[in-house]
Amino acid sequence: MADKGTSRRGFLKGSVIAGAGALAAQGGVAAAQDAAADAPVETFDFDVVIVGAGAAGMWAALEASAAGAKVALLEKHNTVLLSGCALCGGAILASNTKVQQEAGIEDTPEQHLIDHMRISRMTANPEIVAAYTKLSGEICDWFSDRGVEFRLAQFALNHELPTPRAHWTQIDGADAGGKPFAENLIAAVEETDVEVFYLTVGKKLLTDDEGAVVGILAENADGATVQFNAKAVILSTGGFPANHAMLTQYNMAHFESLGYAPGATGDGINMGADLGAILDDMDRAGCFQLIRGGILGAWPAGNTLMVNMNGKRYVGEHSEYMTTIPAIHEQPDRLGWLLFDSAIAEANGWTEEVLADALSKGLLAKADTVADLAKWIFVDVDAMTAAVEAYNAMCEAGEDTAFGKPAEMLLPLATGPFYAARLWPSRPMTTYGGMVINADTQVIGSDRKPIAGLYSAGDDACGLFGKNYPGSGTGIGGGMALGRVAGKNAAALALGE
Ligand SMILES: Cc1cc2nc3c(=O)[nH]c(=O)nc-3n(C[C@H](O)[C@H](O)[C@H](O)COP(=O)(O)OP(=O)(O)OC[C@H]3O[C@@H](n4cnc5c(N)ncnc54)[C@H](O)[C@@H]3O)c2cc1C
Repeated sequence: MADKGTSRRGFLKGSVIAGAGALAAQGGVAAAQDAAADAPVETFDFDVVIVGAGAAGMWAALEASAAGAKVALLEKHNTVLLSGCALCGGAILASNTKVQQEAGIEDTPEQHLIDHMRISRMTANPEIVAAYTKLSGEICDWFSDRGVEFRLAQFALNHELPTPRAHWTQIDGADAGGKPFAENLIAAVEETDVEVFYLTVGKKLLTDDEGAVVGILAENADGATVQFNAKAVILSTGGFPANHAMLTQYNMAHFESLGYAPGATGDGINMGADLGAILDDMDRAGCFQLIRGGILGAWPAGNTLMVNMNGKRYVGEHSEYMTTIPAIHEQPDRLGWLLFDSAIAEANGWTEEVLADALSKGLLAKADTVADLAKWIFVDVDAMTAAVEAYNAMCEAGEDTAFGKPAEMLLPLATGPFYAARLWPSRPMTTYGGMVINADTQVIGSDRKPIAGLYSAGDDACGLFGKNYPGSGTGIGGGMALGRVAGKNAAALALGE
């Protein structure tokens, strides 16, 4: 039986939000995770245990419960409102939705899959992507049917996603973020028999003599070890953007943060890896290209010139993040330079004061000639001079033959002084790497076979994004869809179907 003190829904309703801030502020989660896994003070029996109540976990719970399984959903916080699901920007990328149909937009899961694979540079797993695109419309419609409103958006600049497919949640005509996702999902979970165990941190998978997963040890709100026996376990703890040590290991920790879900500390990935789960794409993540120190605005201006450490232009400066993220990752040391002259500075409203402030912080280089600027930033003079000359010629011709930047953004670097600012990736909001799964969301072990009884979905698993993020709404849409697949398959295994 469930621990009445911490697990029942009655406990949650009163304490959810107030406790969350306090817990995060006091580092309660981290402290809880450090406690030793002693002998269990209590043991529970379930068919399916799901670790992490976010986008994937809540959908997995709904699906497994609907299939007839007895389900436990473990969540380390005392709320689902600290999940990436709740903290996200509020986009779900979905095809053939009611919202699209009402707007007269024709779209199909098949076209969605092709676009997804293209933007991932064909590094995503097409079977996993197909499982997502097939369910994406249904999932988006589920929220619409519950009263969530969406605005449709399209990534237009590079024509990377020609079809408006990103559905952004709305309240009173304004973007509403991810809260409507999390609130509707937990409300639906509460209408089922799923037992939600808040303040319960999944710690260690349990296996039988043959290596099949048969449960998990967790830590409850009192720091005591509790044991969940189960016929199947789903890991959906949200990847590792909040785990500084893991980010350091993959060279992604030292950049500036745009925010991440605090509970996403890689627990699921590490638990799976302990059983030999294969990990992949661990060094790829949603790291936006930024100007160091935010000295010239939040995002790099598209009417500048970007070159790498070798002095070569490497990206259309106007591009969407789907292009600039992989581009910056592919440069030597994952670094670039943003170059501009006095006229471009003026066009962007970067005043003498702004530039002087950036110079005084050591975050901007200034020189009277392009050659001197190259020397100052340790870039090959001939290569950078050639890049600037080629770019200026394209500006004069009004056509960017290299990267297709629109003519109105082509401003030459001709009026000294000249400047260079450091471009680098942000710290990840979302990590792409994790456990390798198959299209049934079974976790693949070191023998390249599924680990019996173990499933994963959401950002703990890899294969959905591959090496590039296929557009706002993929993490949520893909996590939810794969969560459904995991819930269904885990329930079928548990119920012997
Ligand atoms: C600022 C920001 C904006 C974003 N915007 C978008 C967007 O607009 N669209 C989009 O598609 N994606 C967006 N994302 C990414 C998206 O949030 C994630 O891809 C998605 O939430 C992943 O779902 P998940 O189920 O894997 O993880 P989550 O939704 O994060 O859920 C994981 C849950 O597991 C819990 N947990 C962790 N460890 C344990 C443990 N050991 N035991 C128990 N529970 C545990 C966590 O507390 C959390 O509640 C954004 C992310 C951020 C940070």
